[in-house]
Amino acid sequence: MITKATTVLRDYFGYDSFRTGQEKVISNVLSGKDTLCVMPTGGGKSICYQVPALVMEGTVLVISPLISLMKDQVDALHEAGIAAAFINSSLSTEEYRETMDRAERGEYRLLYVAPERLDSTAFTNRLRSIYVPMIAIDEAHCISQWGHDFRPSYRNIRSIISIFDEKPIVLALTATATPDVREDICRQLDITEANTVMTGFERSNLTFSVIKGQDRDKFVKEYVKKNDGEAGIIYAATRKAVDSVYEMLRKSGVAVAKYHAGLSDVERQLEQDRFLMDEATVMVATNAFGMGIDKSNIRYVIHYQMPKNMESYYQEAGRAGRDGLDSDCTLLFSSQDVHTQRFLIDQSQDEGRIPAELEKLQSMIDFCHTETCLQKFIITYFGEKDVVACGRCANCTDTRESSDVTVDVQMVLSCVIRMGQRFGKTMIAQVLTGSRNKKVLEFGFDKLTTYGLMKGRNTKEISDFIEFIISENCLSVENGQFPIIYVSERGKDVLTGKVKIYRKVSVVTKQITNDDP
Ligand code: ADP
Repeated sequence: MITKATTVLRDYFGYDSFRTGQEKVISNVLSGKDTLCVMPTGGGKSICYQVPALVMEGTVLVISPLISLMKDQVDALHEAGIAAAFINSSLSTEEYRETMDRAERGEYRLLYVAPERLDSTAFTNRLRSIYVPMIAIDEAHCISQWGHDFRPSYRNIRSIISIFDEKPIVLALTATATPDVREDICRQLDITEANTVMTGFERSNLTFSVIKGQDRDKFVKEYVKKNDGEAGIIYAATRKAVDSVYEMLRKSGVAVAKYHAGLSDVERQLEQDRFLMDEATVMVATNAFGMGIDKSNIRYVIHYQMPKNMESYYQEAGRAGRDGLDSDCTLLFSSQDVHTQRFLIDQSQDEGRIPAELEKLQSMIDFCHTETCLQKFIITYFGEKDVVACGRCANCTDTRESSDVTVDVQMVLSCVIRMGQRFGKTMIAQVLTGSRNKKVLEFGFDKLTTYGLMKGRNTKEISDFIEFIISENCLSVENGQFPIIYVSERGKDVLTGKVKIYRKVSVVTKQITNDDP
């Protein structure tokens, strides 16, 4: 079967060989196994269902939430001489009727359907008369409330699978799945978890850096100037920030475009086209920009602010270097970003999701503070095991010596314990620096042996250090009305001296006194 698939790949798509993950997914589905395929954007997921569609008898049903992408894919399939069609709200009644008639006659190898269609029983009744050997579910994370883009219509997919006389093979595909989301997709679609194929999260042409404490505007201006003529995207968290970065660059003579939900449809299309056609070299945008954009020569992506989670971050940063050439992904971090993202999460409509969103935000914050390989951090977050350091990112190439900061970490941890493990970062930092803040005194924290243990350092510095300790998994955060910090199991091992902690920047103050643990 896989030999036949290889022939199809060459004859219809013009590629000589499969990428590793593709071959595994295709052989899985061709041997009748329901499968979850997790590959990053640009990894080549489409081939995973398009090739089997040409090997199998019947019409493969592809469920996809992106109307514009559906049309592009169907156009591309037509060009390759493959019979395919789509059904979504852009069709007229007449077009819909004709497409369904032809589908019932078995004329298509692939039929793309928007998930909302599955809400209509008239539609699903007609589907039953089509021979469907496989259902491919694109953007499968939309089925999960744990994912970052939950769509209620995706919940109907489960019942669609069972309407056919012969149960179709299920192939779920996603780019952005954390272990939780993966589990949820498998559970909801009855896919055996062992039939998850996950590959290619590493992007060996991307170089990641996190930059803290810099004047962002100055950085962006200089960076864009230095990379004059190269295509780049600058992502900002709010429309206001997009507008101001856009203005700044425009005034300094950069050919810049902008994109956010506050612009009209026409303006957005116009700005997007200017960027895609290389009229504008730099695009300043919120996360509204980029879904389904296929521009391969993007040399850099700058995050002007920290995004809300690793899923969004990697998806956005991953738009750089789709052509395989070296590209840079730079994140500009300021602790203010944490407040911005918390605020945005608090404002979100679905209150039930807030705890999960805050947990994701914490991983994003950890990414900004880790000293391990940034690429490794990302890939490990997405569940790949035994990842080696990339050797390229800002952390891998940081030549500063690491020093043993175990004692400093112990000071912070013991202070957290003495304060009863029910306060946030700022309060802990204030106690450690010996602040005379009203609240500190009210709680009597000035009587603690850990009070003022890090005198001489400013609160901001200690706050950063606490973030570093969290990223080292020695402290955990519990997100209630306010985030509360407590000592984790690993933290306890640090306190008893079983685990040592190293950091590139040391904040040694004074030695711990004997009566401290
Ligand atoms: P995804 O859906 O995972 O974002 P696509 O299916 O759009 O990715 O594929 C990304 C790019 O990789 C496309 O330009 C596609 O033509 C190319 N591609 C996919 N599979 C192969 C392959 N086996 N060999 C070479 N190029 C491939």
